[in-house]
Amino acid sequence: MTSSEFDLPTFADLPLRPELLAAVAELGYTQPSPVQAEAIAPLVEGRDLIGQAATGTGKTAAFALPMLERLAEIRPDRRRGDAPFGMVLTPTRELALQVSEAVARYGAGLRARVVTVYGGAPVGPQWKALQEGVDVVVATPGRAIDLMNRGALKLDELETVVLDEADEMLDMGFVEDIETLLDETPDTRQAVLFSATMPRRIETLAQKYLREPVTVRIQREEVPDGEAPKVRQTAYLVPRTHTTAALGRVLEAERPRAAIVFCRSRLDVDAVTETLTARGLR
Ligand code: AMP
Repeated sequence: MTSSEFDLPTFADLPLRPELLAAVAELGYTQPSPVQAEAIAPLVEGRDLIGQAATGTGKTAAFALPMLERLAEIRPDRRRGDAPFGMVLTPTRELALQVSEAVARYGAGLRARVVTVYGGAPVGPQWKALQEGVDVVVATPGRAIDLMNRGALKLDELETVVLDEADEMLDMGFVEDIETLLDETPDTRQAVLFSATMPRRIETLAQKYLREPVTVRIQREEVPDGEAPKVRQTAYLVPRTHTTAALGRVLEAERPRAAIVFCRSRLDVDAVTETLTARGLR
């Protein structure tokens, strides 16, 4: 055990209510990750925060658990018709779905209502879901604006907003959309920004919208010489006719610097290569 492990708090040391502690225990989390250990307490206090943390560090729980804690604290008697409490903006539909699933799991014991809205899908069901009442909206920026302009997404009572993978959102050209959305939120809301990298443009965005933010920086895990880095394995079950399209989406979401794709046959290799090339992947 390294010395830093002795310094890490346990989940019970964090200002989270029993329903949330039960949810993380149920998921098998035994100890907060470093970003969770540093970010959760100030976020529960209502502070703004800039977190430099990549995927795999546990950043989702680091912002989702405090959001849910504050939801229960600030709106104990919330009702169906209330405007959303929190919003998470993500660069891609895949990340939006992942984040929603995590928030819904952590918030199950609090009966938190989570709605995901993203482009490339019919707007009707998303509109209806918002109409039915929502505590936390997880959204890609373009569709959020669309639903806001149609009057379905109300941001005027928002208590907290998270920009997840902010650098990716800026790279994808979402800066104006993000600013338009943030300008619609109350000045008093909490603002949280997570980003794997901190280029100047992110700092500028943070300066404009965050007030006296706490800063948390988590480096990627150092891999000792002679050891292999940890690997995240994911399986997507997709009908055979959709596998290539799904692969394209996964690659767009993950944006690996390089990837190897294995196929069953030479014909499949040709078909996959052709489709991915057509999507602009080399
Ligand atoms: P993220 O960086 O938020 O994408 O999380 C990466 C993965 O780590 C997810 O599968 C989480 O369910 C998992 N995770 C998050 N926090 C913890 C924790 N404290 N202990 C164990 N696993 C965790």
